[in-house]
Amino acid sequence: MKRTAIAIDGPSGAGKSTISKLLAKEFGFTYVDTGAIYRTVGVYVYRKGVPSNDAVEVEKLLPEIDIQIKHIGGEQRIFLNGEDVSEKIREHIISKYASDVSAIPAVRAFLLDMQREFARRDNIIMDGRDIGTVVLPDADIKIFLTATDEDRAGRRYDELKAKGQNVEFEKVLSDMRIRDAQDSERAVAPLVPAHDAIQVDTTGNTLEKSVLILKNLIAERLK
Ligand code: C5P
Repeated sequence: MKRTAIAIDGPSGAGKSTISKLLAKEFGFTYVDTGAIYRTVGVYVYRKGVPSNDAVEVEKLLPEIDIQIKHIGGEQRIFLNGEDVSEKIREHIISKYASDVSAIPAVRAFLLDMQREFARRDNIIMDGRDIGTVVLPDADIKIFLTATDEDRAGRRYDELKAKGQNVEFEKVLSDMRIRDAQDSERAVAPLVPAHDAIQVDTTGNTLEKSVLILKNLIAERLK
């Protein structure tokens, strides 16, 4: 049976994961957060003490990494060699590791089939950076979410604070700009909108407003 795939790409903090999660619930689709997969590789590299930009050393670690995603009570939980690292991957330091390792072609190749397998099994809403361009170029609907830097950093800051992490707004903003530049300028699967993506700017929107915009847009196309 043909599955439906919705790709939601965009830079960090544009609201991809929160919005995608709610949309998945609304349409009864499985939600897959691909950033979590890169973050999990980041956790492993971090723990091994390997510099995350050392492509040769990082590639050597890949055969030691087993990643499983389980959907428990509608929540995505991610396991690294059997350990639930769903909280660990959200630590601020891991964002840098994830962004560094994601620029390594061998890492992207290693994770590609895992991501495509989800789309073979279920109707999905998958969020990331290259879902509409590389992972699922035939996705039924492609959305590219953006917002201003300040807006996005503000959301990331609030999230980290809510989790009790001690961070400063200026640092979150500058780290985010570095990561965005790195994600957009890398040679493999850079962060760019697919030619057939619908671009939506969430600046200044409440979460409810963004969800409503996307819900209407998706419902219209699924008719
Ligand atoms: O979305 P999130 O901020 O959790 O992603 C962490 C990092 O993983 C991003 O900065 C990006 O470098 C990388 N990533 C990617 N491709 C994806 C999803 C995430 O390169 N599809």
